[in-house]
Parts: sequence; structure tokens; C-alpha cells
Amino acid sequence: MFDLLITGGRVVDPATGFDRRADVGFAAGRVAAIAAALPPDNARELVNADGKYVVPGLIDLHTHVYWGGTSLGVDADMLGPRSGTTTFIDAGSAGAGNFYGFRKHVIERSTVRILAYLNVSFAGIFAFSRNVMVGECGDLRLCDAREALAAAREHLDIVSGMKVRVGRSAGGASGIGPLDIAIEVADQLQLPVMAHLDHPPPSRGELLPRLRKGDILTHCFKPFPNAPIDGARRIHEEILTARQRGIVFDIGHGMGSLSFDSARTMLAHRFMPDVISSDVHALCVDGPAFDNLVTMSKFLCLGVPLPDVLRMVTSAPAAVLGRPELGTLREGGIGDAAVLELREGRFGYIDSVGEELAGTQRLFSDGIVMGGRWIAAGAAQ
Ligand SMILES: [Zn+2]
Repeated sequence: MFDLLITGGRVVDPATGFDRRADVGFAAGRVAAIAAALPPDNARELVNADGKYVVPGLIDLHTHVYWGGTSLGVDADMLGPRSGTTTFIDAGSAGAGNFYGFRKHVIERSTVRILAYLNVSFAGIFAFSRNVMVGECGDLRLCDAREALAAAREHLDIVSGMKVRVGRSAGGASGIGPLDIAIEVADQLQLPVMAHLDHPPPSRGELLPRLRKGDILTHCFKPFPNAPIDGARRIHEEILTARQRGIVFDIGHGMGSLSFDSARTMLAHRFMPDVISSDVHALCVDGPAFDNLVTMSKFLCLGVPLPDVLRMVTSAPAAVLGRPELGTLREGGIGDAAVLELREGRFGYIDSVGEELAGTQRLFSDGIVMGGRWIAAGAAQ
């Protein structure tokens, strides 16, 4: 007996290499069976996925979902079904001073799974709107290694690493200092740092050599300044060195951090991102980022093949998180999945600097499976 049976879809799991038409049955919150034909009369709920893709529940590695507790937060339960995403990683919305509220009021009440990178700044991202923009790392008194370490240890079941935002906008005159503090804490935790870099100072050349194997550079295909490419459209040497050293390159689209020009140039040099993420927050959820399915569609239209795009939102971020049980769809595994449709047509896209892209493909989500239960896109409150 299945609680849910998804029939007739093309099942694709980048983690196992599985790619063929199959039915997927869920029971007791887990994947009970994947086979060419499973008996439908044994299922409580049926979802027809004919002509669709059935994939692991997607992971969005960079989001802001401390809804109501921070001005930039969006509602993960609203975004999940429409974007095929079952796991959201909040990237530093909360710091040591407000993480407990994030846990109790948002994470524990959410239907979708939320993990977090803890902001090295005590206050988290506390002043982020169209009219008020005060960076959380602008005052180094907020970046206390002891407070961050204690909070991370208290919430280690959720905290997957440290988040730090450096640059003129997020860190004012603090320069590279907040990054050094975040790495100090992350080293104690034996966890990675996700680093955001906006306008210099600091420069890319100061930041990248400090990152360690497994640390994440988010906004990796950002526009000028601190873009990955130079004026002659070559990849900066320190970017190439960082990849060789095992730094993770994450898209983190957001409001100002994805340039089609940077992306096109990087891809022309065969430099693919490791992870595609949306950096969805209150100021980009209505564009240009929208959600991770739109961000993935942009990369499809830039020429990244669908199997690579799917890997970058399933097994790749699962590996970055050190949680191989996520981002995969296998018998006995957790009961997360998404049903996606790839439509051909004319779709307009826009990046963070206003460049338009006329695309011919776009991914849509029919809904997600969370803990073995179907949640249709459009059903979310
Ligand atoms: Zn962000």
C-alpha cells in the first residue's frame, strides 16, 4: 500500500544516474518503490506525471526565509511547491542574537525543510529594504566569534556552516575582517563558510586565497565590480586557482548578483558553477530572481544541459551540505521529490543589471513531495 504513487514520469536522479520512465511509490514518509509499473489500486493518492520529470526534492543553497523576523525574509512554504524545492538553506538571515526565534517561529513550523548558514554578525541581516540598507558587518563589534560559535553549537542540527557578507555595502569599512572571524568560527566547527562579496573593498584577490577547500563563494557570476572576468573577458587567475583548491562556486542570483554577461563568458570558458541557487529574498522574489526554478531555467537558456542543471540543485548542494541523504530519489530514502515540466516556447528573462534574454525553455513545477505527501503548486497558502 502506497500513501502516494506518482505514475508515468521520467525519473531522473543525478546522484545515482537513474534516468528512465518509472512509477514512484511513497509510504511512511519514505520512497517505498521505484519500478517500471507499480499497481495503482494500492495507492491512496495518485499523481499523473506523464510527460513530466520526477526528480529529487530540489535544494536551494542560498535563500532568505526568516519570514516576518527579518525584513528580507520570504515564506519558504509559499515558494517550495512552485519551485520544486523541498530544502531551503537560509544564508545568514539570522545571527547568534536571533537564531532561536528563527528556529522556533519559522523552521519548526515549516512544512518544507530549512537549514541555515549562521551569520557571523550577532544581529543577522537586520536592515535590508528598498529604503533602509545597513550592512550587518559594518560595525565589527557585531562580529563576535564567541557568540557565533556558541549559537552554532547550540543549533548544529540546523546550522550547516557560517555566512559572512563582506564588501562596501554589507561591511562598510570593515574590509576583510568579518571573513577572518567567520573562518575562525567555522574552523572550530569543522564546517564551511559561505562568503558574499559585493563592492570592494575588499577585493576578490583578498577574499579568495583565504577560503578553504569546501568553502563557498556565492554570487560567483556577479557583474562588475568584483566580477569573475576581466575587461578582456578572461577569467581572473585567482578564480581559476580557487577552483583548483576546491572552493565551491554558487550562483546566488538575488537582486544584484547574476550577470548574463559574466555567466555567458564563464560558460564559454567551460567554467560551470557547482551549485545553482536563487538568493531569493523580499526584494527579488518578484524579479529578477523569482525563485530557483527560474534561475535554473536561465542556465538552461544559457546552454547548460538539463542533467547538469539538475545536478547543481540536487546532489551537488547535498554534498556541499554534507547531507548525502538529501537531493536523491532512491528506494528507502527520504520521501522528497518534485514533479517538473520543461516547456518549449518563448520566455523572457532578465538578469541583475537589466539585460534581457529571449529564452526558448522554461521549467515549471507541478508540485513537491514532502515526507511522502503531495503538495501541489498553487495549493500553498
Ligand atoms: Zn543572500
